[in-house]
Amino acid sequence: MKIPIPHPALETGSHALSMTACLLTPGGRGAVATIGIRGEIHRLDPYFQAANGRAIAQQELDRICFGHWGAPLFEEIVLVRTAECEAELHCHGGQAAVDRIFADLTASGAQIHSQSDWLLHDKLPDADRLAEECLLALTRTTTQKTAHHLLRQCRLFPEAVAGLANLNPDEKARRIHEMLAWSRFGVHLTCPWKVVLCGRPNVGKSSLINALVGYPRSVVFDQPGTTRDVVAAETAFDGWPVEISDTAGFRQAAGQLETAGMALAQSRMREADLVIIVLDATEESETADQELLNAVADPLVIRNKIDLVTHLSGSEEVSHSLSVSARTGTGIPELMAAIVERVVPAEPNGHTPFPVTRRQQTWLQNLRLG
Ligand code: GDP
Repeated sequence: MKIPIPHPALETGSHALSMTACLLTPGGRGAVATIGIRGEIHRLDPYFQAANGRAIAQQELDRICFGHWGAPLFEEIVLVRTAECEAELHCHGGQAAVDRIFADLTASGAQIHSQSDWLLHDKLPDADRLAEECLLALTRTTTQKTAHHLLRQCRLFPEAVAGLANLNPDEKARRIHEMLAWSRFGVHLTCPWKVVLCGRPNVGKSSLINALVGYPRSVVFDQPGTTRDVVAAETAFDGWPVEISDTAGFRQAAGQLETAGMALAQSRMREADLVIIVLDATEESETADQELLNAVADPLVIRNKIDLVTHLSGSEEVSHSLSVSARTGTGIPELMAAIVERVVPAEPNGHTPFPVTRRQQTWLQNLRLG
């Protein structure tokens, strides 16, 4: 489930921005969705019909109020007035119910906030804000391992930040430095490590993605230059979330379409946490392979189609590469292990605090400077 973006009509000033709303439950389908609302909550009266017949402003604070939403009525919901000008709506967790309520909210003048904007509005003390951000990040984790790390940070990181106040400047700078050393790892707990496969057309990049993610994802075609765009798939290796993408083949005489794909591929490679250069084990290394090997810093080099060869030859650099077969699966577990080794070379111990969002990272950097 995506956090809805603000409705364009609101930016044109057709309504006063006196009410904000935010989906508070995590993305994905759940049994119940919770929507927080702040501001002129009486604007919801045309949509919410309480079973007790009272208007929203007359509902008791912190009491569950059953009712129906919509005109015409469409959904059974529960409303809780949590403060003078705040309420929570609990509705069915399906996308349709949430979308419908958000459509009504925007029509009644509400501005839809992302979860992080919602928190910023709260003017919380730093440690509380950091804890809330960690909790929100926890809802975005996709594996048990990353959830485990994030759950720890919900306590560790805000505590460590609060403890900085008691330290002398040198000690404080050292502690911040230690926390920042894990910030990349922290951000990756909710944002997969990016792995990009590149190599000449037809070496088997698309087939390798399929073998790595375990299901057919990208176009595989026996014709050089088939993969014209970047195709990405998300998976997890040993509990670490990884987004793996293959790129347009690197070829001298590329058509215009493929050239566009190559530009995209190059920008992907720059952003990647790991670039895998795929060579064809059945062919002699070509100039294009060597150019790639020279151009990419610290790549993981693999030779695909090992099922078709009995004898491997090649340069020193190439002969140290991993041999795999996307077709038979030979070497695929080793390739997964090699990817993990490269993207997560070390794991913080259970007592190390670190930031888990880019905002926290920047905030901590500024704290060091300030
Ligand atoms: P890409 O252009 O690099 O993405 O290459 P593809 O994945 O489209 O593969 C090109 C051709 O090579 C297809 O016919 C695949 O079936 C074949 N192929 C890919 N990997 C292997 C492999 O490990 N062994 C064999 N025998 N064929 C493969």
